[in-house]
Amino acid sequence: MKLLRDKVISDGIVLNNQVLKVDSFLNHQMDPVLMQEMGKEFARLFAEQGVTRVLTIESSGIAPAIMTALELGVPLIFARKQKSLTLREDIFTEKVYSFTKQETNEVTVSKKFIHATDRVLIIDDFLANGEAAFGLARIVEQAGASVAGIGIVIEKAFQPGGKNLIEAGYRLKSLVRIAGLEDGQVQFVEVDEA
Ligand code: 5GP
Repeated sequence: MKLLRDKVISDGIVLNNQVLKVDSFLNHQMDPVLMQEMGKEFARLFAEQGVTRVLTIESSGIAPAIMTALELGVPLIFARKQKSLTLREDIFTEKVYSFTKQETNEVTVSKKFIHATDRVLIIDDFLANGEAAFGLARIVEQAGASVAGIGIVIEKAFQPGGKNLIEAGYRLKSLVRIAGLEDGQVQFVEVDEA
């Protein structure tokens, strides 16, 4: 997605070889026009998948996910992160290790909001090792629902999440794919003029 790639080039900050900071348009301040365009693109990419719900994880996934849900005309659910939790019967829970915070969160979704008949599209801002995406997929599967696809805003293709999700059989679409962050520069996997 050219608009997003241009924004990464102009406003992304390479913190080190592993981490890209995008807090001026995605993770802190948000660019609503860009969010809307991303929502349209995800809706186009997953148009044939019969999506009935969009699922993300708080907080940075919410903005692209709500725009996608708006375009698809379906509800958005965001999984909540909690450090520890007493077991309750009315929620699905999964443990998810956070790449950026380096801590494990218990991720929860109310059983009210995902049903066995649902086709759930998972959306997140970044893909690194796939912990967040796999955790959300496990929640969908706990509900007996199916994962319609996984949409990622920025995939760091030099980390194993993308490969592992595809090997696990998930339909993965990323709006931009980053090949590396060496020498303070963002290298993209492929040029997509769309
Ligand atoms: P994963 O779960 O795939 O290992 O990592 C993805 C999650 O970690 C995303 O939800 C995102 O919040 C965070 N993350 C991973 N890599 C980056 C990065 O380079 N920059 C930022 N801002 N967040 C990242």
